[in-house]
Amino acid sequence: MKYMNEVHEKSNTKATAKLTVGRQVIGDEKLIIMAGPCAVESEEQIHTIAELVKSTGATILRGGAFKPRTSPDRFQGLGEEGLRYLKAAGEANDLDVVSEIMDVRDVDLLVEHVDLIQVGTRNMQNFSLLKELGKVRKPVLLKRGFGATINELLGAAEYILAGGNKDVILCERGIRTFETQTRSTLDLSAIPVLKEMTRLPVIVDPNHAAGRRDIIPALAKGAVAVGADGLIMEVHNNPSEALCDGDQALFPEQFTTLMSDLKSISVACGRSM
Ligand code: PEP
Ligand code: MN
Repeated sequence: MKYMNEVHEKSNTKATAKLTVGRQVIGDEKLIIMAGPCAVESEEQIHTIAELVKSTGATILRGGAFKPRTSPDRFQGLGEEGLRYLKAAGEANDLDVVSEIMDVRDVDLLVEHVDLIQVGTRNMQNFSLLKELGKVRKPVLLKRGFGATINELLGAAEYILAGGNKDVILCERGIRTFETQTRSTLDLSAIPVLKEMTRLPVIVDPNHAAGRRDIIPALAKGAVAVGADGLIMEVHNNPSEALCDGDQALFPEQFTTLMSDLKSISVACGRSM
């Protein structure tokens, strides 16, 4: 891990590096909560959800504009228009914003519209994309490939760091196993293991791991307990009508309750929210 060690000069402590995302600092004692719909569906939808997210104390709004769908018949996202709505909803509610990049040709577009650029599970080893993101001055949220080992995730992070961009946040979002009750298996061990191996902040996405909303609060709490620096979660004002990932979107009330539970748990874990 040559670049990881170079950019975050190994002090004798194992302290997590503190990175700035918009107006937030991640890797510090304060947990950073990112939340919003899977996809930006309309201007009205993202504003409604942004208000809800803000009311719970979360500080970063998520919303996909370029969606990597299993089938081309499915909603692919609003593209640039979606990014504009996301940015405006963030500004209107004092929230920073994160959205996924799928294509290397969209780097400038993402840099212009978001505070944090997400690389999804399917692109974790898109090395040309990672190399381009190494050149930008914008933090990157690198999600673990659903078939990738921890070493492969770190190797992917190295591509971004090698280009000179030291602002990389790692995300555990579940891996594919033989289990069928959940969409993926959340690898909670990855969090303390990554903390041992690197100083990069680590967050958890319980929604994509679970694929079902009923167990997401339990996974989110577990993630905080094992040392995650934050969470990225999907919440929707009307999950049954969601154009993407409706089954795993938290209901607004569920999200609000979870946020208040996390506040208590964070204190017991030596964190704040
Ligand atoms: C998402 O965040 O909506 C997403 C597609 O995540 P992942 O890449 O982890 O599947
Ligand atoms: Mn999703």
